[in-house]
Amino acid sequence: MNPLNPATEAAAATSAAPAPQSNFIRDIVVHDLEINKFGGKVQTRFPPEPNGYLHLGHAKAICLNFGLAAEFGGKTNLRFDDTNPEKEEQEYVDSIIRDVRWLGFDWEDRMFYASDYFDQLYAWAVQLIKADKAYVDDLSAEEIRKTRGTLTEPGQNSPYRHRSVEENLDLFERMRKGEFPNGSRTLRAKIDMASPNLNMRDPVMYRILHAEHHRTGNKWCIYPLYDFAHGQSDSLEKVTHSICTLEFEDHRPLYNWFIEQLGIFPSQQIEFDRLNLTYTLLSKRKLLQLVNEGHVRGWDDPRMPTLSGVRRRGYTPEALRNFCNSIGVSKTNGSIELAMLEHFLREDLNKRVPRVMAVLRPLKLVIDNYPEGQVEEMDAINNPEDASAGTRKVPFSRVLYIERDDFREIPPKQFYRISPGREVRLRYGYFVTCTNVVKDANGEVVEVHCTYDPATRGGNAPDGRKVKSTIHWASAAHAINAEVRVYDNLFLKEDPNDVEEGRDWTSNLNPNSLEVIRDAKLEPSLDKAASGARYQFERLGYFCVDPDTKPGALVFNRTVPLKDTWAKLEKRAA
Ligand code: ATP
Ligand code: MG
Repeated sequence: MNPLNPATEAAAATSAAPAPQSNFIRDIVVHDLEINKFGGKVQTRFPPEPNGYLHLGHAKAICLNFGLAAEFGGKTNLRFDDTNPEKEEQEYVDSIIRDVRWLGFDWEDRMFYASDYFDQLYAWAVQLIKADKAYVDDLSAEEIRKTRGTLTEPGQNSPYRHRSVEENLDLFERMRKGEFPNGSRTLRAKIDMASPNLNMRDPVMYRILHAEHHRTGNKWCIYPLYDFAHGQSDSLEKVTHSICTLEFEDHRPLYNWFIEQLGIFPSQQIEFDRLNLTYTLLSKRKLLQLVNEGHVRGWDDPRMPTLSGVRRRGYTPEALRNFCNSIGVSKTNGSIELAMLEHFLREDLNKRVPRVMAVLRPLKLVIDNYPEGQVEEMDAINNPEDASAGTRKVPFSRVLYIERDDFREIPPKQFYRISPGREVRLRYGYFVTCTNVVKDANGEVVEVHCTYDPATRGGNAPDGRKVKSTIHWASAAHAINAEVRVYDNLFLKEDPNDVEEGRDWTSNLNPNSLEVIRDAKLEPSLDKAASGARYQFERLGYFCVDPDTKPGALVFNRTVPLKDTWAKLEKRAA
């Protein structure tokens, strides 16, 4: 058997990607290439701020940036947008590197940090001061906000707006040297306090912050703001298409203004819609809160929509890439069904992962006419979707475990599984007919007894008689124990931000998002299952081995159940 495990993923990642879907950003790139806008080059970047772990929304941005460049023979940089020393950490940098690699993308030797450019950014700020395009303001952040105006009213000029170039140069230099306390001064661009675009109303370029930076240490006590760092970093890296999410649309005039004033490489900003998923929150700030408040075990809790979370849960990078490719990009924010992501996951796992038999909630099934002490090695198919996966042996004996749910003493209508008098097929085993049950003092069924038909070995009757259901099982004497963690949506509502007044989004957390089953019984072939290996537990879903597994103490995560509601909807729509 070849359980799909992380070691085999690198090889799989190089297999042919699906044909690219066209979208408006791709159309822009195609057009720019036609008119030779950037000398026939495509250079993109993925620019995370290292203030949290990457999530599924980032996967969309990563696939878009790397996918576009790859398609047109271009390159993609990984750039850490690390201009906020208070929230950024090396741990996040490391996790981001791991996650982008895992998704299957390679930035080669082009890993950069905005902090690499602090000297250049400072020099550019000085250049703007000299051109009388920037000034040092003594207003506090609060005062700046108050004088900024509104959408209908212009802002007011700061009383410090008309400082001389010399005074501004002197003050900015002294800001850098650390002469002033946090928040006492800022450097602002001198644009237009009456601009209809609030971002153009003398935006702050630099702030004073006496804080240690994870890379530059204490070298700086002034830090550039996003708007004065991002476009310039793009320009320095000769990024041709700077792709970002829609909330930056109103920042584009400012992005262009800095580039024009400085006369530097004209990177082009293009905005697309953020990924939103039902029953899911994709905001680093909120995910951090889930971690800090202990609602989940950590950033890589399998219920988290982080890449490290879904990896631990058993998602494949292929499924994520196929999903991202299929949702495309647009100019309006919407919401994608979580079921669609799960559909892509099942589609991928179905082709590749081996099937095994596992009983999550065991109930004893005793075959009274099966010889005591006899063990038969039954042939089981590893993957009906992949003949090359071969077969394996599964031991069959007189006492088996079946799923508690597969038995009903009084079967409701439409229940075709085991009940008294009913004949069913044991997968790869025999036909068995339930004869009677044994109950404990509380009247609960603790053993189901049956007889088997020796002529049905392998699961087929020579006389052609049919049964209505096939049941999975594990031989009691041979089964191995495992802990199985079964996950449900982390949030109860499609839109986790939909809350009544006075409550916050954490009130939408699903209290039953994790169920731990401690005594699942697995077929013995799973004995050596390695961390990260994925399986289909027949009839139950896809599962993978959790890194908490220790020798003799297997732990599985349920990746996703089998039932594909999305595929059904698609079929109905077609
Ligand atoms: P969050 O809102 O979760 O904190 P962010 O936008 O602040 O995310 P960054 O680290 O700045 O996180 O994001 C890096 C890149 O990923 C940016 O280009 C950003 O636009 C993109 N990105 C972030 N979230 C999403 C999302 N939900 N869908 C698509 N792209 C996203
Ligand atoms: Mg951001």
